[in-house]
Amino acid sequence: MLIAQVIVELSLDRKFDYLIPEELSAAVRPGVRVEVPFGKSTRVGCVLSVSEVENFSGRFELKPVLAVKSNSPQLPEKLLQLGSWMADYYCCSYEQAVKALLPGAVRRAKSNRGKRRFALNDLAAADEFIRQNSSKKTAAKRIAVLQTLMQEDDLTADEIELRCGATASVIKGLLELELLVISSVDALKRRKHRKFAVAPDKPRTPTAEQQAALDGICQLLDHPEWDVRTGLLFGVTGSGKTEVYLQSIAHALKLGKSAIVLVPEISLTPQTVRRFRARFGDALAVLHSRLSDAERREEWQKIYNGQAQIAIGARSALFAPLANLGLIVVDEEHENSYKQAEAPRYSARDVAVMRGKIENAAVVLGSATPALETYYNALNGKYKLWKLEHRAEDSPLPEVRVVDLALAREHAKEHPGAGSTLFTPELISAIKSRLHCREQVILFLNRRGYARELACPEELCTWVAECPDCSKSYIYHRSRQMLSCGLCGRIVPAPVHCPVCNAEVLRTRGVGTERIEDIARRIFPHARIERMDSDTMRGADAHEITLEKFRRGELDILIGTQMIAKGLDFPNVTLVGVINADSGLNIPDIRASERTFQLLTQVAGRAGRGDKHGEVIIQTFSPYNDVIRYAVAQDFPAFYEYDAAVRQVLNYPPFGHLIALYARGENESEVSEVINAVFLKAKSFCHASVIAVEPAPAPLARVKGKYRYLATFRGEKISSVRRALRQMVLHEVWKNSVELYLDMDAQTLI
Ligand code: ADP
Ligand code: ZN
Ligand code: ZN
Repeated sequence: MLIAQVIVELSLDRKFDYLIPEELSAAVRPGVRVEVPFGKSTRVGCVLSVSEVENFSGRFELKPVLAVKSNSPQLPEKLLQLGSWMADYYCCSYEQAVKALLPGAVRRAKSNRGKRRFALNDLAAADEFIRQNSSKKTAAKRIAVLQTLMQEDDLTADEIELRCGATASVIKGLLELELLVISSVDALKRRKHRKFAVAPDKPRTPTAEQQAALDGICQLLDHPEWDVRTGLLFGVTGSGKTEVYLQSIAHALKLGKSAIVLVPEISLTPQTVRRFRARFGDALAVLHSRLSDAERREEWQKIYNGQAQIAIGARSALFAPLANLGLIVVDEEHENSYKQAEAPRYSARDVAVMRGKIENAAVVLGSATPALETYYNALNGKYKLWKLEHRAEDSPLPEVRVVDLALAREHAKEHPGAGSTLFTPELISAIKSRLHCREQVILFLNRRGYARELACPEELCTWVAECPDCSKSYIYHRSRQMLSCGLCGRIVPAPVHCPVCNAEVLRTRGVGTERIEDIARRIFPHARIERMDSDTMRGADAHEITLEKFRRGELDILIGTQMIAKGLDFPNVTLVGVINADSGLNIPDIRASERTFQLLTQVAGRAGRGDKHGEVIIQTFSPYNDVIRYAVAQDFPAFYEYDAAVRQVLNYPPFGHLIALYARGENESEVSEVINAVFLKAKSFCHASVIAVEPAPAPLARVKGKYRYLATFRGEKISSVRRALRQMVLHEVWKNSVELYLDMDAQTLI
């Protein structure tokens, strides 16, 4: 008798046994999707495994599998194995883990092909509509649609309904008001067209360092039986890591194997894709979030059918169903965005290492600023280590100069008009001389909007513009005269007077990129300036257009947030200015130092990539801070020693694991009650060496109207408390109004 273990598409975190009828015995295999009876209805499920049972006493009750969903793809068995591991390790249900393996676009039977897609017609008009109607209940749905589309390029009617419950009539109304336009078909064709217009290129002769790394990776590929499957490619910015990836992949292909390349979404720019396309042409499938459902399905099918042997994409491309996987590359492996923020809260980098283990594939983690965990593993031999210490084209690393903002402030007091703490005299004169030579400048500030907050200047009035649903102040956008919440995305008109005391002029605090752009335009009236952040980048092609302009030399100064910090390679950029290096330093987070170091190094790496010498100016109030000093010296090993020492004392990663337990709900006392009960019970499962930190309101104490509490567990021997917590969170009943979840190997505690 054949029995199938099936997980049903409900988040029950359970596997159910079903009998496989004779006539389906060939078709029911691990990874296929089947219809099964469930209670009084029929459900779709995924077969995890099939087993032969001789003695089936006690299994009389088993119900039979009803049918195999023939048009849906079969997941490879090893991927299912990976999914199971993720469910256990990341403490999510099996259903959630398996769901992550198959892109939504493929899972959904309904096809979006040829469906109309809708996009914002004009941002200013949308703002104006929200401004005039924000208090009207009847406009709520329309405003919700506009807000959703402010965060997306374009969506189908189904997608809009799913996101904000707005029906076709709402969309029709917005089309009539000319607030929306029908976007898709043309954009799709255009993108297709561009895809094929890439000229092929040839491998470059590797430098000695590149060759050594290549040899190491090729050896891993040649010896799938070796135990250590993972290596760190630790190469300074511009050292030619990508060339190493490209040639390693070529070697994998030669062995008849396939490859996956993961890049952070933010650096999955056309520029990156073009480099891979130029080398591998149609063997490449691209998966990223800007694809429409139809495009995504098409790319996925190419991989599934074996037409493409290489998949490149963000996080989820890790689950590309490639046969005979030989190599996984994780570029910029330290990037935060590899950790998924919703369940399953997996780290794509760590899951890549696991997939490599399961499939005997080699895993290459590349970075100029490795995560402490990765470098730790490389130092103690768990991973191989290859270093690229020189830039490939032998252009020297840029010269980094620190400007002390405290001195600049004094100077500005004595010499009004000669610069400020935003644009110090040093920065201004450096920019001027670059403009004079017709070279290009990048200015970086990690905060969008005009100001971090808008508040009342009256001393006795405490009004600050704050999101009513979140414990955070609104970001102020001056040119749009709008306020936006960085947590929930709410957008409202900015008040002109203080709504409490009626003060006539409001004050702003904390500068953002919009303000930097304003000032730059005033100081350098003849320069061609553009800003790139999530406020200005709307529409499918906005990024590409701006970057293309910059590449062609039609812009002199590019101002932006971390969106411009990564992966860009423009030879004519000779100056990078960091407006304020301190903004990320003073956040009470264990990774604040690491992130600041990474960001400064990455931004600095944009300068001097061609044959001209590059310069970086870092403005800071804390020039003697260790993190800033190591970043200025571009000395990662020294930074590692410094930060690792702090973490070791505190038992933080990489010296121990970190589990965050969150509870959220609308009633604060219930939230607190539940998390305290769970915490108390979990403590009895903790190994003596585990440090358990009592529940308390999370740093983001309220988001979207829900109170949030946080407790943490950390230490080396964490697995028994992890298992206990998983069971409590997924299977025990606490209070329906309180949601509990776990974040294993949490990257931030917020
Ligand atoms: P990284 O990814 O390490 O920041 P890139 O791969 O972007 O570095 O390489 C930086 C530049 O050096 C690119 O313009 C690339 O084409 C060039 N390059 C890489 N390897 C070589 C090589 N062996 N010979 C000449 N140029 C190279
Ligand atoms: Zn909010
Ligand atoms: Zn006031």
